[in-house]
Amino acid sequence: RRPARPHRDLVYPRGTEPSRRKHNPSIRVMQWNILAQALGEGKDGFIRCPLDALNWHERKYLILEEILTYRPDILCLQEVDHYYDTFLPIMTSLGYHGSFLAKPWSPCLDVKQNNGPDGCALFYHRSRFSLQDTVHLRLSAMMLPTNQVAIVQTLNCRATGRWLCVAVTHLKARSGWERLRSAQGANLLQSLRSITSRGSGQSEAESGAVPLVVCGDFNAEPSEDVYLRFSSSPLGLSSAYKLLSSDGQTEPAYTTWKIRPSGESCSTLDYIWYTQEALSVDSLLDIPTEEQIGPDRLPSYHYPSDHLSLLCDVSFREEPHKLI
Ligand code: NDP
Ligand code: CA
Repeated sequence: RRPARPHRDLVYPRGTEPSRRKHNPSIRVMQWNILAQALGEGKDGFIRCPLDALNWHERKYLILEEILTYRPDILCLQEVDHYYDTFLPIMTSLGYHGSFLAKPWSPCLDVKQNNGPDGCALFYHRSRFSLQDTVHLRLSAMMLPTNQVAIVQTLNCRATGRWLCVAVTHLKARSGWERLRSAQGANLLQSLRSITSRGSGQSEAESGAVPLVVCGDFNAEPSEDVYLRFSSSPLGLSSAYKLLSSDGQTEPAYTTWKIRPSGESCSTLDYIWYTQEALSVDSLLDIPTEEQIGPDRLPSYHYPSDHLSLLCDVSFREEPHKLI
């Protein structure tokens, strides 16, 4: 009934396919706002998406198919409102460890027959990492608690012994909230700074700060203040998907594309940030073309969410003191 799912290429940013490194295998990271079931059916108003493409009992297989196609080592999800009944049991049976943090006042709860609040979820594969520490954060803005959250985990890479701190977040949506997003970003950066400087149990001076991967639906275009905050913070973060562009400096044209009664919205809101000094990006999953997405945009029978998944392979750079 449905044509095959469009293929997405893995792109090697420096034009060279890295040789397989047995002692430093790359770490596959996926970032995805999977579209909360209650919001997709009850709130979003995706007027060009066929209703049965939003049926959970079919859509969940498309989400799982996407995850299983790429088998990420680290999976960061937003808008998860089927964690306990779907993602936790399935991902656990596949060898993952999972962590979930609901939004304090999830808009899903306004929808009739909701499945509970939506929130962020973070999974890592147990064969690749052991867990040092999990921090659940409710983001603040100007000292006041907000409705947005983040999960931060400090992991130890079994293959290399190196530390990695992974974070997932979903910032406040909609235009008019740029200053709140910026303040939420500042709060998250501050927490990350404190977590990564004590993460491996040593002082920062002894160990160097723990490398970071921060995945999120920032609900902000690259022109927004919160993007500038992240790209210029003392943590030395860079956005992985810039490396897909020919100049290495430009974000993709879109990571979400949908049609609501208010009109068409095509924007870049999702990012994978990484510590540039400590990690290198070996490959990235290409963004589908406008033709592949199709005239009715997202979600659709092919794409179960209005956001595209982002995926990259990162690896640890040589530690500076080991180069001497
Ligand atoms: P956000 O504005 O961050 O948005 C919530 C969700 O709506 C996001 O997942 C977002 O998706 C989606 N969204 C974005 N734009 C649109 C749009 N144009 N139309 C439909 N959906 C859209 O919400 P908050 O976290 O600030 O929560 C607001 C809700 O929380 C209120 O509706 C209320 O129900 C509830 N609330 C209740 C309180 C209480 O006291 N009971 C207190 C505070 C909040 P994406 O990220 O993909 O853009
Ligand atoms: Ca949404």
